[in-house]
Amino acid sequence: MVFNIDEIGDEGLNFKTRKRKEHFCIDQADCFLNKDVEIFGVLTRLNEEVFLTGRVNTVLGLNCSRCLEPFTHLVETKLKAHFVPLGDKSALAGEVELHAADIDTEFYENDRVDLTQSVRDGILLAVPVIFLCREDCNGLCSRCGVNLNQGSCSCAKEPPIDPRLEILKTLKEKFK
Ligand SMILES: [Zn+2]
Ligand SMILES: [Zn+2]
Repeated sequence: MVFNIDEIGDEGLNFKTRKRKEHFCIDQADCFLNKDVEIFGVLTRLNEEVFLTGRVNTVLGLNCSRCLEPFTHLVETKLKAHFVPLGDKSALAGEVELHAADIDTEFYENDRVDLTQSVRDGILLAVPVIFLCREDCNGLCSRCGVNLNQGSCSCAKEPPIDPRLEILKTLKEKFK
């Protein structure tokens, strides 16, 4: 995922690559890469500044926020990033600082641009805040824990028991 900026010609540098999922360290129990990552795009250069536009395709393994079942989530996301040389003290410095305030700006050293972080960020931004196995997931019964997508339980037929009411009932019977 490292490109030497000298490789980027006037017409830009088109690339298409596949990286092993281990490369991106997205491996939590409830959010992990389930497939190697395909990246394609174009790098362009304006003096020392490098621009990336492209796409990332992969598959994430997630656990449903409602029923907790594992499921896979297809990621097909856009990639956009901007790189400036680290510690550039040239006439561009003022402009570079300004660009550094953009969230998309990253730094590179020794004329080598590494896209790993941009790709990782792109994948993580594509993770939904609430992941559902399907839009109408019924979730788990809050009382007995049965997965309501797979079957029903009898809880809904009984009124919920409020522990305070139980105590009141016991007291009432005591003082009858
Ligand atoms: Zn679910
Ligand atoms: Zn139940």
